[in-house]
Amino acid sequence: MNKIIVAVDGFSSCGKSTIAKAAASAFKYIYIDTGAMYRTVTLYAMREGMISGEGDDKTVDKERLQQAIDAGKLKVDFTLDPETNKPLARLNGEVVEGEIRGLEVSNNVSNVSAIPFVREFLTSQQREMGKEKGVVMDGRDIGTVVFPDAELKLFVTASPEVRAQRRYDELQRKGDTEVKYEDVLKNIQERDYLDTHRELAPLKQADDAIVIDNSNLTIAEQDELVSKYVQEAIDKANK
Ligand code: C5P
Repeated sequence: MNKIIVAVDGFSSCGKSTIAKAAASAFKYIYIDTGAMYRTVTLYAMREGMISGEGDDKTVDKERLQQAIDAGKLKVDFTLDPETNKPLARLNGEVVEGEIRGLEVSNNVSNVSAIPFVREFLTSQQREMGKEKGVVMDGRDIGTVVFPDAELKLFVTASPEVRAQRRYDELQRKGDTEVKYEDVLKNIQERDYLDTHRELAPLKQADDAIVIDNSNLTIAEQDELVSKYVQEAIDKANK
């Protein structure tokens, strides 16, 4: 049975990971969250004091970050949670899953992910992870840059307000009760802008991607739709 690559791209907090995780589990594929990889590099840069300024004046000390990457001081990978079997992002062996999801990392990640050598560093790891196929990878540039030949490309979208509400609810559930809905919405709008306007590998729909607008879909409806697309793509690859 030939395996395929499923690329799931789309805007921030639009439910890409829910789709990708469900598809991976239904077809026994490996799920790879590339956003977590960009978040982990961002956390490293923050911890090392490489990010300064606010808003439009935010700067990343690219020279030091490049040196750290070149010197192999920054290792990003995943380990499986022994209890839930879910992948957890690691920075140099330390599980950083909780920390990378906070608003602070979210506010810096678009600046770090726009840096060409960061993209090169992570894109090559992502290609390596998918070389045996049988993966569902979610991100912004999976169907356009990382795996332009992916057998199935999904482009997920929902309105910014729906996405902000979902993200806000998720943060509340995790105990982040200080956070305000308006700030989450602002972060999503800013990231949409930065992710679609950056020079390198901007977020855009691949010509051959299937669009899923899940503003008004339940999770069950969405899962059913996605499973159908994945099954069709697998059948096609095995004809
Ligand atoms: O998917 P998530 O929201 O966790 O991604 C965080 C950020 O990482 C995005 O806003 C984007 O700047 C960056 N990213 C990217 N390319 C990817 C995945 C994520 O630039 N393939």
